[in-house]
Amino acid sequence: MLSCRPLQLLLQTPFRTAHGTDRARTNALVELTDADERSFFGEGALPPYYPHDVADVHDYVKALDAAALLDRPPFALEAALARLPEGPPPARCAVDLALHDRWARHLGRPLYELLGLDPSDAPPSSVTLSLTGDLEALREKARAERERPVLKLKLGAGAIEQDERAVRTVQEETDAALGVDANEAWTVEEAAALIPHLPDLLFVEEPIRERSPSAWQSLAGRLQGEGPHAPLIADESIQRPADITRLAPSVDGANVKIAKAGGIAGARRWIAVARALGLKVLLGCMIESSLAVTAATHLAPKADFTDLDGARSLAEDPFAGARIDADGQLSLPERPGLGAAPARSSQR
Ligand SMILES: [Mg+2]
Repeated sequence: MLSCRPLQLLLQTPFRTAHGTDRARTNALVELTDADERSFFGEGALPPYYPHDVADVHDYVKALDAAALLDRPPFALEAALARLPEGPPPARCAVDLALHDRWARHLGRPLYELLGLDPSDAPPSSVTLSLTGDLEALREKARAERERPVLKLKLGAGAIEQDERAVRTVQEETDAALGVDANEAWTVEEAAALIPHLPDLLFVEEPIRERSPSAWQSLAGRLQGEGPHAPLIADESIQRPADITRLAPSVDGANVKIAKAGGIAGARRWIAVARALGLKVLLGCMIESSLAVTAATHLAPKADFTDLDGARSLAEDPFAGARIDADGQLSLPERPGLGAAPARSSQR
């Protein structure tokens, strides 16, 4: 049996980016139940600035033939994945996670082992400082996270001078490696004026408003000759593997998320494409419960940078799973499968 329901996620404090401010999110939770009544869960993140909602995931799941998915032996993951039709990436992601969980639990190993990955190879995860125009508040937040090895700062509050001050404020408070994410806030001219003045950044993510290869090319062209600058990483501009190919000449890296790539299998393909083109890989996430974040964490050893703090800001996490330790290291549960389990306090 296969079912889909909304997964309500309340945030501890409002989370602001250049896309807007969120106090809550509704993702989709998919549950696959086998003949032995064992449940396998998957989650599809549904940020409001992307086109899909719970109804889309519900429709995708309803159209699937659950009996056919369960009909192959549980070890035959590839055969089950091959039966999944194209559809909204978050919908496919949710089903893909449930199938990976079933596969790995059947084989009795954590997913990363079956993928041949060693979690100790994973780069430390950043934690995110949300967008603010209040530099003193930002200073406080940066100070509170000063021991962390990697931070990511959301930019795009208004004038680029304000963004530059925000970066310097964080750098005054901490020695953490710092990446920034403008979430499509700047024009090409603004990005080209600002980026060379932001020293010592780990990366600059999705700087410009336009997602087209020509806009990225224009930015790369303007930055050329301005001296060295932080690696440019495309996030919103990459929604399918062909986007990685098209943007490769103008970017340094790709932000790969399971919600965009349609799950673990899709993310592995995206990473392979990015690597073949010589790009760096940032493994990211949306605002998600520990179900989706834990699933993504299994792929962390394949990334150059990880930004897997999507469940950290939740007021109540409906799942327990991977954690980011104080030193930024990602730790995965030892359990077979994805390793995420429904939190004891949640009603399901
Ligand atoms: Mg981003």
